[in-house]
Amino acid sequence: MDKKIELVKRLKNCGYMRTKKVEKGFLEVDRAIFIPDNLKHFAYHDYPLEIGFGQTISAPHMVVIMCELLELEKGQKVLEIGAGSGYHAAMIANIVGKNGGVYTVENIPALAEIAAENIKMAGYGDRVHVIVGDGSLGYEEKGPYDAILVTCAAPQLPDPLKEQLNTKGNIVIPIGSLYLQTLYRFKKSGENWKREVHGDVVFVPMRGKFGFHLS
Ligand code: SAH
Repeated sequence: MDKKIELVKRLKNCGYMRTKKVEKGFLEVDRAIFIPDNLKHFAYHDYPLEIGFGQTISAPHMVVIMCELLELEKGQKVLEIGAGSGYHAAMIANIVGKNGGVYTVENIPALAEIAAENIKMAGYGDRVHVIVGDGSLGYEEKGPYDAILVTCAAPQLPDPLKEQLNTKGNIVIPIGSLYLQTLYRFKKSGENWKREVHGDVVFVPMRGKFGFHLS
């Protein structure tokens, strides 16, 4: 069986892939585009891969879990912290559709450039905007957002992200130590916030003002 189809089957059986829209996004956005040449043959193996600059593209199951937790709808405006390869942003772009938009912030300029190229090659350059900057501060210029995704490990939920979320929506973020984190979904509805725990995860550290201060 085709590796991609086989992986979709497994992601569904494990209960990670639950909706048609996430399945469609996964099938339509080719992960191979976002992976360096020497690793492309691992595109549909379910593990994270190195993308240079000490950073990684998350494993397919993690991208799928996070996309499901965001509860994305067509036409939404989404903020991502940590563009990396651009893969996750492209998946979100597929799900929110032509009338939606994704703002993804990356603080390594060379990686931001690669992400933008990959996203363009995958066909989502029209609705994904890659910004170079400290994403721990969010991206106030285009807020508020309908959903916010953080793809690097944070020591706590940065206040600016809370402020830049719409009156209703989700923030999905790994929070914990440098080496192990818990995946949280913060659900906002008006003045109410609900915090849900979604398992143990390992992400590369968030840097910047609200990140880890590594020497
Ligand atoms: N979503 C990416 C995976 C990103 S890995 C993908 O689909 O490939 C996490 C990324 O977060 C890395 O590229 C890292 O450079 C970036 N990062 C870490 N701290 C950051 C910060 N404060 N602002 C923006 N990006 C940050």
